[in-house]
Amino acid sequence: MNKKPAEQSKLFATTDCTGEHAVAKRTVKVGGVTFGQGRPVLIAGPCAVESAEQIDIIAAALSDMQVDMLRGGVFKPRTSPYDFQGLGFEGLAYIHAAAKKYQLPFVTEVMEIAHLEKVAQYCDMIQIGSRNMYNYPLLKAVGKLQKPVLLKRAFSATIKEWTLAAEYIMATGNEQIVLCERGIRSFDSCTRNTLDITAVPIMQMNTGLPVIVDPSHATGRSYLIEPVSRAAVAIGADGLMIEVHQDPANALSDGEQSVKLADFSAMINRIGLEIGANNE
Ligand code: PEP
Ligand code: MN
Repeated sequence: MNKKPAEQSKLFATTDCTGEHAVAKRTVKVGGVTFGQGRPVLIAGPCAVESAEQIDIIAAALSDMQVDMLRGGVFKPRTSPYDFQGLGFEGLAYIHAAAKKYQLPFVTEVMEIAHLEKVAQYCDMIQIGSRNMYNYPLLKAVGKLQKPVLLKRAFSATIKEWTLAAEYIMATGNEQIVLCERGIRSFDSCTRNTLDITAVPIMQMNTGLPVIVDPSHATGRSYLIEPVSRAAVAIGADGLMIEVHQDPANALSDGEQSVKLADFSAMINRIGLEIGANNE
């Protein structure tokens, strides 16, 4: 019988950071892309799907670059109810069409259980965003699906809370989880968040799950994406998720942190990221 206290993990090595319990590394497959196999996976795309044309332009360029996966929000968790909320299911159809046309697996966020089944029918990976990491009914609902999940860290979550959020999904039956460090709230408002780079090896050791980094929401500033991506790769992150836009100055959300599409390929080359190498 498992005698661990209830707030500890039954499925992972530990919920703390003693580093004494390194577990075997797991891999997660999304379409032909494998996370946790050594080579960092590159996910890129707009913060939000804005139109059929916009996502087509972006997906075409990313496919030319052999980026591994496409991202794009259609249900957007915005701080203000007056900000662009995403195109909903109309946007889902646009990103699905672009992803299919350019043969890129795609990830998109779900915020409500009611939307889960329909989104899961079309996307290759479901994103649980920072604000919903604590949404336990939603975590249990994605746990019942056989669909890879990208679980972002809540901006206020401890290592223990994040580990146990992943445990909710796994304990419900879904083991295909990739974790994403996207910055936590700290005292300094100079950057949008503070990237907790230390969380990458800690969560890899605790859970064995692939851990990727989102430098876009971590920093909030496009000029910081390149150096922060380098740091993430250097510390052994299993991937990067980066926001790009064809015209960041006119983006409907997160333009200030989006890398200009025309500059993206050169940036990735400077980082030295090998992309498309071991995809099927
Ligand atoms: C996103 O990746 O689209 C997003 C909203 O990020 P986060 O949940 O980390 O704020
Ligand atoms: Mn965004």
